[in-house]
Amino acid sequence: MKFNKFTLAFPDESEKSFKINYFHNSLIQFRVAFILVTFLYGIFGFLDQLVAKQYESLFYLIRYGIVVPLLIVVFVFSFSKYFIRIWQELLFVCYLVGGAGIAIMTIKAPENSIYYAGLMLIFSAGYFIIKLRFLLATLAGWLVLLFFNIGVIFFSDTEREMIISYNFFFVSANIIGMFGAYYIEFYTRKDFFLNQLLDQRNAEIEEANKNLESKVTIRTEELLLAKEQAEQSDRLKSAFLANMSHEIRTPLNSIIGFSELLSDNYFDPKQHLEFAQMINESGNNLLVIISDIMDISKIEVGQVQLRKKMVSVNKVLFRIQKEYSFKANRKGIELRIDPSNPVEEVTIESDGERLGQILINLVGNAIKFTENGFVEIGFREAGNFLQFHVKDTGIGINPEFHQKIFERFSQVESAFSRKYGGNGLGLPISKSLIELLGGTIRLESEEGKGSTFYFTLPK
Ligand code: ADP
Repeated sequence: MKFNKFTLAFPDESEKSFKINYFHNSLIQFRVAFILVTFLYGIFGFLDQLVAKQYESLFYLIRYGIVVPLLIVVFVFSFSKYFIRIWQELLFVCYLVGGAGIAIMTIKAPENSIYYAGLMLIFSAGYFIIKLRFLLATLAGWLVLLFFNIGVIFFSDTEREMIISYNFFFVSANIIGMFGAYYIEFYTRKDFFLNQLLDQRNAEIEEANKNLESKVTIRTEELLLAKEQAEQSDRLKSAFLANMSHEIRTPLNSIIGFSELLSDNYFDPKQHLEFAQMINESGNNLLVIISDIMDISKIEVGQVQLRKKMVSVNKVLFRIQKEYSFKANRKGIELRIDPSNPVEEVTIESDGERLGQILINLVGNAIKFTENGFVEIGFREAGNFLQFHVKDTGIGINPEFHQKIFERFSQVESAFSRKYGGNGLGLPISKSLIELLGGTIRLESEEGKGSTFYFTLPK
């Protein structure tokens, strides 16, 4: 605790709050003390009559004309809201006036030396019970003593020995009073300081608790989110497994079925050839599924290796058109190359096989989800990038799914996936590969009208 050793004042802001606090804590004690002091000051008039009859009128004037009314006025004023502003100064004046009154009586009645005891009472009341603070109480105490000495030395014929003996008592009373008042105020201030410290600590603890609570809330929310994500991913994986079993079983069934029919001599060689084609197609489908699973696993563990070299984009597009035209034509749709493509050969440094894989995924989907119209593949230059597009006039995709379909195992609708087949891995694989090659993918689509997938690759 930092404070001025002489005035006891705090050096900072807390002095102001101490004073307010001191006032409110002292008010009741002050009022009780004032009632007591006023009563005692008044009742001692009985003594005046008994031992100082000849000064009765002067002493009564001091008691009932000055001091008691002053004390009553200050007591009444203590109920005003302005009292807090000057209460210490008023107590100082009361101490001074009350003390001076008794001093006059002591001086006036030298033969009745018992009046000095009255001054001793004034000192103890002034220092200890009326709640006047140390510094003003000390000042008032010594001023009363000074006033007494001036009076007793210059305006009375009191004997020297008597004056010396009075001073022995009064000086001692003042010193004891100062000592007591100092420590009373010191401990009051210490109490205040410790309470303030306690409030501060409590506030800090409360703040820390609040922080802790909000941290716990945030963590709980994060955990709930993580749990939801884990559950979602679990659900997707289960759905994927169910779907995948179905996807694998379909080509496997046809491979097994048609290979059994192959060994049956009932069918002619032309039919055998058809069966062999069916087996081949189913085998290829199976291969696609297994390759997708392998690709996604490699992507997940970050083991995809890119083999970059100069790739002729035009050639890749023509190859895909050639390979998939048959499939498209079978459905009665046209697979065409965008007529506005650059005619001259465009080459980029990239992984040609992966580019082919991405385009095949997109073209395969476009053919799968288009019942009539066309599928178009093309590209154009866009700054440092080539922008490819695969456009179809198929069923289109609801905007709700534009982001979702790039997530693993997700398909627009399970009913659709049953109708169209597929494992929900093609787009996530394509997206990951495009990003690995340094590009991005996006989609424009309207339900019922068709879709266009755009993706970029650095030149
Ligand atoms: P798969 O086609 O094997 O189900 P994909 O990841 O390639 O998996 O596609 C996910 C889903 O996105 C498809 O099931 C389909 O619902 C939707 N989709 C993809 N391409 C198209 C398209 N061209 N037209 C309409 N829907 C599409």
